[in-house]
Amino acid sequence: MAHVLAGLAVCGLCGGTMTRVVKGKRSVPKLVCVAAKTGRGCRYLPARVDQVEDAIMTHALGHVLPHAPSLDATVEADLNRLDDALGGLSDHIEKAVEAVLANPKSPVIAKRLASYEAAREDLIKQRDAALKLIDERSEAVVASRVAALANLLESRCEDRPTLNAALRRVFSGVVVHAGQLGFRWQHVPPDSGGAVTPLVFSFTALCGE
Ligand SMILES: [Zn+2]
Repeated sequence: MAHVLAGLAVCGLCGGTMTRVVKGKRSVPKLVCVAAKTGRGCRYLPARVDQVEDAIMTHALGHVLPHAPSLDATVEADLNRLDDALGGLSDHIEKAVEAVLANPKSPVIAKRLASYEAAREDLIKQRDAALKLIDERSEAVVASRVAALANLLESRCEDRPTLNAALRRVFSGVVVHAGQLGFRWQHVPPDSGGAVTPLVFSFTALCGE
């Protein structure tokens, strides 16, 4: 484990993966966008790994973790939408069944019933997935993960694999860009407000290196 943001660092310019590079013995390790490094677009704007890590280990406890959003209502809204759709479909199915009984030999009506039933199967699967999500992201689980990370930071843990694992349970990614980190909360859908908490850190520009 080379740095605490392994598997988490996201380029602030293109949204792509960032990786740690060391160019020679006297050079400091940096985080760079993989696309920029491999010449597939983006710009080469490295950030020093030590500065990023220092920002997390020193300031995340006081400035990021207190802003953990509560479990977002969008998951519940999603479930309501699916339940409404299922209800509507059940009405259609009932009518289609009546039609099939009245016209048992009509392939068109039979086909319609089959397509409603398939759509219902699909919605039930989506509903199960939404329920599973609610289960996984329960307030208690989120709170205990945030508390576990807070404990590590509070005790000034410097074990990178341990910190990295705890960070990954709380954040889905950390955007690195020009002196600012953006912590993406794991339990909040990406499009909702408050999904990212920013943290400014001391930054040495390393352009053109
Ligand atoms: Zn990039």
